[in-house]
Amino acid sequence: MPEPAGEFDLIERYFVRAGAGPAPRVDLAIGDDCALIDGGPDTQWAVTTDMLVEGVHFLASVDPEALGHKALAVNLSDLAACGAQPRCFFLALGMPRADELWLASFMRGLFALADGHRCVLAGGDTTRSAAGITVSITALGDVPRGRALLRSGAVADDDLWVSGILGDGALGLAFRRGEFTLAGDDASAAIRRLERPQPRIALGIGLRGTATAAIDVSDGLAGDLGHILRASGLAATIHWDAVPRSRALQELPVATQQRYVFTGGDDYELLFAAPRSAATTIESAALAAGVSVARIGHLRSGQGLVVLDSDGRAVDIAARAFDHFRHE
Ligand code: ADP
Ligand code: MG
Repeated sequence: MPEPAGEFDLIERYFVRAGAGPAPRVDLAIGDDCALIDGGPDTQWAVTTDMLVEGVHFLASVDPEALGHKALAVNLSDLAACGAQPRCFFLALGMPRADELWLASFMRGLFALADGHRCVLAGGDTTRSAAGITVSITALGDVPRGRALLRSGAVADDDLWVSGILGDGALGLAFRRGEFTLAGDDASAAIRRLERPQPRIALGIGLRGTATAAIDVSDGLAGDLGHILRASGLAATIHWDAVPRSRALQELPVATQQRYVFTGGDDYELLFAAPRSAATTIESAALAAGVSVARIGHLRSGQGLVVLDSDGRAVDIAARAFDHFRHE
């Protein structure tokens, strides 16, 4: 039996069309966090789509207001990864029945985040779906021409940086599944991180012209860093001690912490590369954006990812992102 195809195998096999070349006005197609569309001499439109499916990405019992927030947040996070300014979004909803209480709450969460970024609902589609709720959002933002942050563009010796903290998305999910008990404050923080991720829009915009490459960490640090490494043709070294983690996460066994950070997903922080000389500029951009940033390692020529613990020993990381078609 051949290995079952993973999400990225399917994209390569069926969606990327070899030899098709760039189409007029499509400056960058499949393969990055957003596509870039020609928006005139000074502008490019960054466009992204993400879908959330009941039973796969959320349980039927989830708070609809939190779901509304998250459905838009995961899209705005892709705009942030490109350094784009959100402008508008389209909402396609599939629902087994018209539950207006549910809808009112869902849209309250969604609009609260949209309004915070002055991002307007510009259209969509509404349909019955037998299998459960599906939410698909397409978000558009703009960026000055040539200034978008891409997964490619990093160079050897660049530092690797990450915003916020990593691993709490997976911690929140494990807590929701009843795998842990957490004290009150830690529990609400982990749930907030899982259900109310904050897209790092201001930081992404602040990193234009400074970061050489960027991605949002949606599938775990190993997989998403892997995308930057492949796109930029580089290898990386990460220092485990430098990876920012919550106090609650640090109380778990190290192996669990590393699983959550490297393959957990749902963190929606920015991972980016920049030359060493840009450190002060990055600290100022982060301060202005109200987000913490940490330097977690560096890039080098070659292939692959090495993670070193505090004694300089290599940590064994299964460098595989959460993959919708390979995992149960
Ligand atoms: P992200 O995690 O940033 O949303 P992914 O890693 O899921 O991005 O997707 C990688 C690339 O493949 C993106 O450029 C995305 O637009 C593209 N892609 C994924 N699914 C499809 C599809 N069904 N048709 C065309 N492109 C797709
Ligand atoms: Mg992304």
